[in-house]
Amino acid sequence: MQTQIDRLWFDPAEMLIGGIWRPGSATLPVEDPSTGAGIGFIARGTSADIDAAVAAAQSARQGEWGRLTAAERGRILARIGRMVADRAEDLAFIEATDVGKPLKQAHADALALARYMEFYGGAADKVMGETIPYLDGYTVYTLREPHGVTGHIVPWNYPMQIIGRSVGAALAMGNACVLKPAEEASLTALAFARIAVEAGLPAGALNVVPGLGEEAGAALSAHPGVNHLSFTGSVGVGSLVQAAAARNIVPVTLELGGKSPQLVFADADLDAALPFLVNAGIQNAGQTCSASSRILVQRSRHDEVVARMAERYRALRVGPARADRDVGPLISARQRQVVESYLALADPARIAARASLPDDLPPGGHYVAPALIEGLGPDHRLAREEIFGPAQVVLPFDDEDEAAAIANSTDYGLVASVWTENGARQMRLARRLRAGQVFLNNYGAGGGVELPFGGVGRSGHGREKGFEALYGFSTLKTVAARHG
Ligand code: NAD
Repeated sequence: MQTQIDRLWFDPAEMLIGGIWRPGSATLPVEDPSTGAGIGFIARGTSADIDAAVAAAQSARQGEWGRLTAAERGRILARIGRMVADRAEDLAFIEATDVGKPLKQAHADALALARYMEFYGGAADKVMGETIPYLDGYTVYTLREPHGVTGHIVPWNYPMQIIGRSVGAALAMGNACVLKPAEEASLTALAFARIAVEAGLPAGALNVVPGLGEEAGAALSAHPGVNHLSFTGSVGVGSLVQAAAARNIVPVTLELGGKSPQLVFADADLDAALPFLVNAGIQNAGQTCSASSRILVQRSRHDEVVARMAERYRALRVGPARADRDVGPLISARQRQVVESYLALADPARIAARASLPDDLPPGGHYVAPALIEGLGPDHRLAREEIFGPAQVVLPFDDEDEAAAIANSTDYGLVASVWTENGARQMRLARRLRAGQVFLNNYGAGGGVELPFGGVGRSGHGREKGFEALYGFSTLKTVAARHG
């Protein structure tokens, strides 16, 4: 099938089931968000394709994949990681075209995918059970075993990173995976699968079925042959996936949205904080689950922080992904409309700064000028709801209690950060803030493949990344032997 996607070395309209690449019975168009142009097609997987993929995964568990030792699985994952790193330039180009992500950011995602495979490859043979002191005449020990077939439903904003952290950990534990990438961004999932097959991953260990959420995604979440589901995406769909899994009593990891705050106290080192304050809001055009969309500033320095952030906002360069400026387009016309209608809620007089859109932007691209907003109460919709676009609100607070209360006042709890030189305050707030990760005098800690990640409240439950994910992608068996 015809494509106009630079550096793509395979037919994107094929899906991978049981080690065989096959076309779907229908296709979905691929759009370049930087231009709005149609550039190719992916397969539109059906519930029959999901059935076939789950059956292939079950066979893989019974076959070659299921018989490998942990060390052998680890070696394959490490090999995949090296091959991903070797192809990072190609993967970055493909992702930039498919997602609209500036090239440097897409390249960082490709290297993160390689690193996940390296990390989980190295960890595969280091997950151990324990022996438990028990009654006289007994020996008791625990075994960590794979769930069996794991389903992975992935969004469009960070396909490579999310595949790395969920599929990487699941394969390390010996599960066989069925991956349903987002309909807006399936190309790097398919590229990853091509590399994995080339690296020697046995047939059926990884199956990739692109398609619509309500079709292929819903079929995967309701499938009785799936033993664990990992979902990353919106709160609404996460709740549907959890409900579908509940009917089969299947455990679910949900990685959902956020409204993550950075708390800036009067004693903070503002020069150090400023790049983090802004970048954490505009990275990937704000389409990041852990984006920092709320900046809480102690009142005595509020105006200074607004002025210095505004200066940075005015300097932001917006452009097509392959021009590699600071901010690319949003993923789709629909997402752009959602973000613009949120921004229309702000009083124009309280928009502290708006980046400008240059004249050379392709007219069909989905660009939004980044906006910094001040003067809202913490209950305003813009200060509570996830916008998922390049926009941040700055809110003042008077003291530590008020800062914690505002920070904890949304339904979300994914990430938070605290900027202060006061060590005791750092320790207090690290405990008080309702979030899965808290950063002290930084934000994001460089991505942190090794660092467990996940939310509380409507940000979800379960943990991915780090060693913790290996426990999530396995189940514990207790063996009690009575030997007298
Ligand atoms: P989405 O929920 O619309 O889609 C995510 C995935 O779910 C896609 O693959 C989609 O095809 C699938 N899907 C859609 N409907 C489905 C259904 N009925 N049944 C099963 N699957 C279905 O989310 P999105 O718009 O693609 O992503 C944006 C959201 O994801 C934001 O809220 C963001 O915060 C969140 N997100 C969270 C994390 C995290 O790690 N916490 C990471 C990235 C994105």
